[in-house]
Amino acid sequence: MKFAAFSQVCEQLEGMSGRLEMIDLIASILPSLSDEELPVFVRFVMGRVFPDWSPQKLGIGPNLLYEAIGYVAGRKKAEVVTEVNRTGDVGGAVEHLLATKSQTSFFVEPLTLCGVYADFTRIATTDGNRSQREKLRVIKGLLGNAGPLEGRYLSRLLLEELRIGVGEGNVRDAIAGASGVNPALVAHAHQALNDLGEVALLARTGEASLRDVHIAPFRPVKMMLAQQGTISGMVEEHGSVAVEYKYDGTRFQFHKVGEECRMYSRRLEEVTGAVPDVIEILCKATAHDVILDGEVIAVKDGRPRPFQFVLRRFRRKHEVEAAMEKIELVPNVFDILYLDGETLIDRPFSERRAVLETVLSEYVAPQWVSDETKNLESIYQEALDAGHEGVMVKTRGAGYTPGVRGKNWIKVKPAVDTIDLAVVGAEWGEGRRAHLFGSFLLACQDEGGDLFPIGKVATGLSDNDLAFIYQHLKDLVVAEKGKEIVLEPKVVFEVGYAEVQKSPNYESGYALRFPRFVRMRDDKSVDEVETVDRVAARYEQQLKSL
Ligand code: AMP
Repeated sequence: MKFAAFSQVCEQLEGMSGRLEMIDLIASILPSLSDEELPVFVRFVMGRVFPDWSPQKLGIGPNLLYEAIGYVAGRKKAEVVTEVNRTGDVGGAVEHLLATKSQTSFFVEPLTLCGVYADFTRIATTDGNRSQREKLRVIKGLLGNAGPLEGRYLSRLLLEELRIGVGEGNVRDAIAGASGVNPALVAHAHQALNDLGEVALLARTGEASLRDVHIAPFRPVKMMLAQQGTISGMVEEHGSVAVEYKYDGTRFQFHKVGEECRMYSRRLEEVTGAVPDVIEILCKATAHDVILDGEVIAVKDGRPRPFQFVLRRFRRKHEVEAAMEKIELVPNVFDILYLDGETLIDRPFSERRAVLETVLSEYVAPQWVSDETKNLESIYQEALDAGHEGVMVKTRGAGYTPGVRGKNWIKVKPAVDTIDLAVVGAEWGEGRRAHLFGSFLLACQDEGGDLFPIGKVATGLSDNDLAFIYQHLKDLVVAEKGKEIVLEPKVVFEVGYAEVQKSPNYESGYALRFPRFVRMRDDKSVDEVETVDRVAARYEQQLKSL
């Protein structure tokens, strides 16, 4: 497939608002693609370049892209920035600049989907001192061969922000439609393989191969997630349930085959090098090949320390030893997904738990099973007394559903209402904070992953917080108008609030009353922020409790 044809499809999709219409268009294209093109198309159309399990990243900031486009279009970088500010969209700006460039190149080689992917892979695999220069060279080459429309989508893809409204759900349904297979099987294979590109290939060979998927060590699986709820609600609905402490640490997935062990964070980034102590503990605690799910906490004198201490360790790249001396980490394992070649995610939790207890000699998180609300509430109190965040209540009959925030795991913690939102903009501060961002525009997401502002936060931020946040956000500036800044949405804030209100002032239709910064959640990615639907549910819930 030519990249020009792909760009036309993107343009069509961008102009569509109906979900079914989008699914039909994607489904009509899939059969015409070769086996090499199919996985690339499937990921590209969702704005992703590499499989979700893969540690590969393009790692291209807007600055590098502006430099490349300036070179190709014969403009100064400052002119490119002005154009991006004018259009408010990198893709639109690149399209305009390529359409109006003064020199035309004579040796244009048409871009193909697979050719672009090969170049992206080259970008992701260059490292060392010369890597920026090499990346720039490849991007210049790509943009030099691109027409205006191709430039629009190529540049957005380079920033891994396609913004054409195609989410995983649409693509899953298109795959099922194109191959005539059951959508539930596509969804299940996707959970296990964590790459819709590969799932699309399997779907071509029929339902049997989709049914027979296995998870593989060193290929991280998305983590199962929890909803908010109550102990009594879970007991009423399910009778006997399992309760565990809710540890205030950081989620991990531990993979082991023989002596080789690796650890991944909640965002599936490899953190093996940062936590050799935890790796050693877990590696010694089992003789089996396993994939384990758990939460690692920082401990001092037997009591858990706040979550930030764990993150400090997870982020370490240098002086790991010194950090180890200062912050002791302890893993708490609560699930097992794989044992000695066998995928366990479809087995009921009660069975997985029994397996876990036999394969791991230590560090299994304690669990209580009961159908008595009163008993379980006393465990909740015990958890709080011991310095944990609350408890997790889990149904015992359910499988492990990667990436799903379902009703089989419920979190119960004291009522401080907080919400995780994407930071999509900022404003320069004032007075002694004039060189830093002082307030932040926050957004929730819809089903397709599009972001809608819900309010601004400027309180709860110390000078230290602001300096720290500035370091994280300064390279994400996409456009600037006066004091206002548009940011590439990459960072998640947890904010506290008094109430959700309906509001015409923000695109989400809602606003937060008394928003207050709680912390930066760099363990979460933007696709995990609160959805508009759940904001609406919070609003309804408030009305009920009035
Ligand atoms: P939240 O981050 O508020 O959505 O809460 C869910 C998170 O609690 C999970 O992603 C885990 O990181 C964490 N957690 C702590 N203890 C447990 C546990 N026993 N079982 C599952 N998740 C836990």
